[in-house]
Amino acid sequence: MGDGFKIFELVKKVLFTDFVKGLSITLGYNVSRSITHRYPDEEKWIPYRRFRGLHTLNKDEHGRELCVACELCSKACPTQCITVIPMEDDTGRGIADRVAKVWKVDLVRCLFCGYCEDACPTRAVRLGREYELACIDSRCNVRQREELLHPQPTPEAFEGGVVARATFIRKKRSIKVKADLMNTKKRSI
Ligand code: SF4
Ligand code: SF4
Repeated sequence: MGDGFKIFELVKKVLFTDFVKGLSITLGYNVSRSITHRYPDEEKWIPYRRFRGLHTLNKDEHGRELCVACELCSKACPTQCITVIPMEDDTGRGIADRVAKVWKVDLVRCLFCGYCEDACPTRAVRLGREYELACIDSRCNVRQREELLHPQPTPEAFEGGVVARATFIRKKRSIKVKADLMNTKKRSI
């Protein structure tokens, strides 16, 4: 180590260079724009469309279920967490006479890989953007067809990638954060 380097180190110590450098980083964060999300009390992140959250079972424009109970989704599922039991039904409930008597998914085993939606020939099953899946009762980890047929709060057409104003709703057996999609803003994360 040369004399020049030692003098340089000494000057740095005398002038508190490292201390000032560290302090400038701290002060910089103090005056920069906050990127903290005030979730769940005030804000909720709405993911991009490519996000893979809770399953949804779609209907066509006439309200008929698109699922034809072919079971391809359950066969493609790497964790075998989808159960499909078909039945014959000519009442017009579905787009074919073969409809799902049971369609359920066990979210504890689900990887949210999207293989089920890739395998579906009718685009009946899609992974939506609902990610608040925690619940008090473990039975609610198995989501049934009846629930999944309901539209999710964030429509597929909505672009996402924004923070929405939100209301925190606490119920006896669950909590929900209701987002106002008309009141959103971009924020880098
Ligand atoms: S997302 Fe993947 S793991 Fe989950 S149900 Fe679909 S195929 Fe199975
Ligand atoms: S969701 Fe799609 S792949 Fe699964 S049973 Fe229904 S039609 Fe077949």
